[in-house]
Amino acid sequence: MGIFRATRYVASLPQVDIGWLVGSGVELVLLDRDNTCVPRDAGGAPEAVSAWLDEARAAGLRLCLVSNNFHTSQVSRSARELGVEFVDHAMKPAPFALRRAMRLFGVGAEKTVMIGDQVFTDVAAGNLAGVRTVLVRPQSRSDLWYTHVFRVFERLALRGVTFDGE
Ligand SMILES: [Mg+2]
Repeated sequence: MGIFRATRYVASLPQVDIGWLVGSGVELVLLDRDNTCVPRDAGGAPEAVSAWLDEARAAGLRLCLVSNNFHTSQVSRSARELGVEFVDHAMKPAPFALRRAMRLFGVGAEKTVMIGDQVFTDVAAGNLAGVRTVLVRPQSRSDLWYTHVFRVFERLALRGVTFDGE
């Protein structure tokens, strides 16, 4: 399996099938923040994201933001609003923050999934940490300038890939 290959491709977080996660033995869901849970051009998460998180919690899943965002206040506020734990300054694609989160919850890699909107950070970090990965479409067109650069290569990496829900 290539380091840039996700386990599943889904149009958005609220479209990720919670039954599939639970049914495949997932207990811990690691979530990217920017453009996965919270659109970069919005202050908070959309209602559909909060509803998905509620449903995931009700299904027994444990939830943790793992964010590269350097603004700890933004990440901690989102975590509080969404009722999830968080690990910031994650430095994905390095896998260390994902491992930190798994230790925090006492859940192994085989029962963990990383969900995010970027191939070269979220999917790569997930694969390096040995967890399953779900790539979602970025939830806004707003990105950091260097992310725009990565998006060019990302489009190449995603040629021929179809996303569930599109
Ligand atoms: Mg992101």
